[in-house]
Amino acid sequence: MNNLAPELTSTKAVLSLGLLCGLVLAGCGPAEQGPPAEADLILTNGKVLTVDENFSIHDTVVVDEGLIVATGGASLLQSYSAPEVVDLQGKVLMPGFIDSHTHIRGRPNHYIDLTEAGSVVEIRQLVEAKAEEVGAGNWVTGYGWSEDQLTEGRRPLRDDLDAAAPDNPVILTRAGGHSAVANSMALDLAEVTPDTPDPEGGVIERNPDGSLNGVIRERQGIVSRLVPEATPDELVDSLEVNLNNLLADGITSIIDASKAPAEYAMWEGLYDSAELPLPRAALQFQWHDPPAIAAVKARVGEGNEFLKIGPIKVFADGGFTGPAAFTTEPYRDQGDYRGYLDMPEEDLIAHLNEIHDAGWQMGIHAIGDAAIELVVDILAGALENNPREDHRHYLNHFSMRPSDATMETMAQHGIAITQQPNFTYTLEGRYVENLDGWRLQHNNPLRSPMDHGVTVAISSDILPIGPMVGLYAAVTRKGMTGAVYAEEEKITIEEAIRGYTRTGAWLLFEEDVKGSLEPGKYADMIVLSDDLLTIDPERIMDVEVEQTWLAGRLVYTSQ
Ligand SMILES: [Zn+2]
Repeated sequence: MNNLAPELTSTKAVLSLGLLCGLVLAGCGPAEQGPPAEADLILTNGKVLTVDENFSIHDTVVVDEGLIVATGGASLLQSYSAPEVVDLQGKVLMPGFIDSHTHIRGRPNHYIDLTEAGSVVEIRQLVEAKAEEVGAGNWVTGYGWSEDQLTEGRRPLRDDLDAAAPDNPVILTRAGGHSAVANSMALDLAEVTPDTPDPEGGVIERNPDGSLNGVIRERQGIVSRLVPEATPDELVDSLEVNLNNLLADGITSIIDASKAPAEYAMWEGLYDSAELPLPRAALQFQWHDPPAIAAVKARVGEGNEFLKIGPIKVFADGGFTGPAAFTTEPYRDQGDYRGYLDMPEEDLIAHLNEIHDAGWQMGIHAIGDAAIELVVDILAGALENNPREDHRHYLNHFSMRPSDATMETMAQHGIAITQQPNFTYTLEGRYVENLDGWRLQHNNPLRSPMDHGVTVAISSDILPIGPMVGLYAAVTRKGMTGAVYAEEEKITIEEAIRGYTRTGAWLLFEEDVKGSLEPGKYADMIVLSDDLLTIDPERIMDVEVEQTWLAGRLVYTSQ
């Protein structure tokens, strides 16, 4: 499925010229004696990580009409002239990050971003302030708290929220989205009482005395279904800001997961009229609403270089924050509990085959080793029944290391991964709680699938969104406590950068136009405060994005 829009035809023409030039590099451009060729922009005197096939390093990049026309040495300054010449002062210039699994949303007024919250006390203050802002009786919602980041080392509970907002229904979703805590008013409105049985696939947590502590795992929809829908205006304004913020993290392209088809119209409207610069985006639609999917399917191939429809999303299991990942062995100290599939196995088989047979690409959520092995078996079967070249189906997350046989099958059938090494760092507490021994050590494996010949892209799943955490964990295999998990799963910083740029472009069928700094590709580039290749790995998380260029335009600067 190549969704390059008609507008890209001209890009492709430039691309072929650019590639010809690229072959002769510094000698490319005008004839030796002729005047320098005109370009829009030259960045020079840098350490340019092209992230091309050979990870070549140059010092100069020439840009014209939003595309790279040449990379090479300072001699390019004789071959090209441009009204804007940037002296990089030796700093690293590299391709913008491609976050191949993320979730960016517009947020309603009643929403609080809790991803940076550092204590339960702070959460209480934020809830109190928001309750005052929206007025008594109105909902307060939030997302992103994690007990691992809270100084109290515990989750916010019903009592905390009751104290902060006694007169507002409140529900706050944990980072990862697999559980949430609600206050008494919200539970009352949802008619969730101590006598309510656990919903199928979920848990209503209770205190030892049988009272509710406010936490609901996996099926928090029993409360959040009551939250009123936001108006399109409030959503689109904050969506624009949230997307624009990605540029400050050096992210110039995303695959955004689990969208409802109806949201595509909002994104299209935004991308048509945005006042702020926005990264390039591909939206994944979830296969839970076949009629709506059919409507979107009619539009595959539409889109342009900034917004397009991405691979179809299917959930095979849950996550480790619930926990609901589907594992082959029982969880640590939880009886025979092994998590569960998100849908009956027959349905999963039917859906994956149906989507494959329709000719679509899939990005499938699979976290537990049992879910991973099952999905790989189903995909291998679908590919054997109906072989398809270049399908680029991939598993998202791959948080447990499956059997070697499964990785061999993946390599054989070209089934790829988008992996979140940052989970090793931020979700360490969850893994320690639920896993043990070898499977704990090998969480979020990188080296083993790569050594088996599996293509591995790297993404954030917004835990957190900044790419430096993922790069750090990929090369150190360290959790938040500093403990190292299966050192043999480490990859090099070059491999990690490749996974966060070039491989993401491949997942998008866009390796011809982005993911590296090569002639003919979009001039989507970032300047870093430090050199990722030489910095002490312990300092990677301190590296800052100083500039972000999108299609040759400076769209973010830290100065
Ligand atoms: Zn996700």
